[in-house]
Amino acid sequence: MNKVANSERKHIVFVGKRNSGKSSLVNRFVGQDLVIVSDTPGTTTDPVKKAMELLPFGPVVLVDTAGVDDVGELGQKRISKTLKAVSEADFAIVVLGCQNTLTDEEQNLFNHLEKLEVPFIIALNKIELGVNPDLTKELNSLKLRFAEISCIEDKGIYELKEKVVKLIPAEEEQPLIGDLVKQHDIVVLVVPIDLGAPKGRLIMPQVQTIREALDEDTIVVVAKDKELRAALSKLNEKPKLVVTDSQAIMKVAADVPDDIPLTTFSILMARYKGELPEFVKGIKRVNDLLNGDKVLIAESCTHHSQEDDIGRVKIPRWLRNHTQRDLQIDHRSGADYPDNLADYKLIIHCGACMATRRGMHTRIKQARFMEVPIVNYGVLISYIHGAIPRAIEPFDEAIAVWEDI
Ligand code: SF4
Repeated sequence: MNKVANSERKHIVFVGKRNSGKSSLVNRFVGQDLVIVSDTPGTTTDPVKKAMELLPFGPVVLVDTAGVDDVGELGQKRISKTLKAVSEADFAIVVLGCQNTLTDEEQNLFNHLEKLEVPFIIALNKIELGVNPDLTKELNSLKLRFAEISCIEDKGIYELKEKVVKLIPAEEEQPLIGDLVKQHDIVVLVVPIDLGAPKGRLIMPQVQTIREALDEDTIVVVAKDKELRAALSKLNEKPKLVVTDSQAIMKVAADVPDDIPLTTFSILMARYKGELPEFVKGIKRVNDLLNGDKVLIAESCTHHSQEDDIGRVKIPRWLRNHTQRDLQIDHRSGADYPDNLADYKLIIHCGACMATRRGMHTRIKQARFMEVPIVNYGVLISYIHGAIPRAIEPFDEAIAVWEDI
């Protein structure tokens, strides 16, 4: 189980006010004194993570956080780290002391979790001191799930774990291409070999698509963009689907007859890794950009940028040409968005080939929470080059968003 990367594990965040018993509960979950526990409020400062196997669910990461009622300048920084951990969570356990009724911070926390679409359960801790019936009445009236526990007396922890196991959302299986094709279909993949292509190999989305198409027992034809016309003319049956690199979309769209479905590797990846409809919503906001608007180009990994780099050079140029606006375009590489995310009018995200599906979902969720539209490179490139809606036609959920203008 130690071989499962943290990014692939479901993240369970323990959140609540200072001194509610979050760290004690984490220790009870893990079965060891992982986190320092003290009666002094605010003992936990930065989020503390621990990977474990939560049976029978599987590998998870437990995240202990600082209190949401922390005070002072440092306290505010800790709160924002806690809220960031919450925004990256798959599930939250809100730990409450059970002697009082709900405070504003706790109510705000519930709203925050609901807005971020993070499912949660409330752990009513310290039942050894007695449970306030007004609190349970309040939780019942808000239709909030809760479990009564005592970390000190080790009561209710097993039952809480059982509830958590049932409530953690299961991973949805999203095929890359498998649901679009069937046995003996012909699939044509267009792979330009230009200066931007890595030497001696194909890039991951291309390899993954080939593999999944082969797994579906389809007949896979791979050609460069220059050979596409020749390849199509030699087939005695229409392909079921043509998939191209985004940057060749205009040439390929011109070469592929309108009655053959066409999409791009980036759009396949956007659906596989992210939420294609969210990106389609995002492109509908591109034309709303105004002079001086801030646009964030976010890349999941740092890499050596090339002379005509897609994120640094081409996309900014295409976007400014397309919108005819004087935009302020910033770049960010790595796992985090900048703290001033709300200042941006659009996020343009890379294809996230190095990021997990979970990681990409988190980034989309964070953008949605800050109400900043998000697109990815591939969807934007197809849009700017006039290939939308054609390149999203194979996907009903994306077309539905596009047509709902
Ligand atoms: S698509 Fe994103 S994650 Fe993949 S190499 Fe480019 S910058 Fe890195």
